[in-house]
Amino acid sequence: MSTATPTPRPAALLMSFSTSAGAVVEVSAVDRSSAPYRWTCSAGHDGGRAYASLPFCRDDAKAHAGECLGVAPDPAVVEKVRVALGYRAGWKPNRHLGEIATRLTVWSQVELNEIFERVGGTVTTREVERSTSDGSSTWMATEITLTVVVPGVGPVEVVTDIEDDPEHGYRTDVPVVAVARYRAAAAHCRALAADGDFDGCLPVQDEMAMCRCQLERAGRLDLIGAA
Ligand SMILES: [Zn+2]
Repeated sequence: MSTATPTPRPAALLMSFSTSAGAVVEVSAVDRSSAPYRWTCSAGHDGGRAYASLPFCRDDAKAHAGECLGVAPDPAVVEKVRVALGYRAGWKPNRHLGEIATRLTVWSQVELNEIFERVGGTVTTREVERSTSDGSSTWMATEITLTVVVPGVGPVEVVTDIEDDPEHGYRTDVPVVAVARYRAAAAHCRALAADGDFDGCLPVQDEMAMCRCQLERAGRLDLIGAA
């Protein structure tokens, strides 16, 4: 018996328009929802919303193609990023996820951790509000960003969301997450101490100790400069 790994369904390309600067604006159906249409531009732009109406999406895409002066990513830059992150040959940023060569998305904290353990980098977190593609509901998520400096390119960000539910919640046994939480807690603790709230620091210090312990178990205390 074989087990299939679920992979995101590729978006169906419906039409494309060229810009005067040589970028390409594509209209695609990305899912089977009631608002499946999106447009993206190879210069790193997108419609910022999902459309229920293909004609509206097409008109906006066409209007953007008429005015966009952005330049599509240099293939040499994409190749440097691909090699630095250890991606397979032929990899390129997925525009339907809003990716550009210097800002990429991965599906999970485990996947982000694989890149982190392979190439290093710095880790930061922030709270973000997310919404479904049709805007019918919103939720808060923690976004973890891994920044890797790629020679000849500069900083490249790789991001993933951690949603606070039992299945997808924090995996502090994963070093990239432990480092992110440790750094966030350390900053929180410094802010509390600056306000003289030393009692407030105690639970935050517990969290730092817990993260430190996880990193020690993974043999990666070096990641917080404490090896
Ligand atoms: Zn554009």
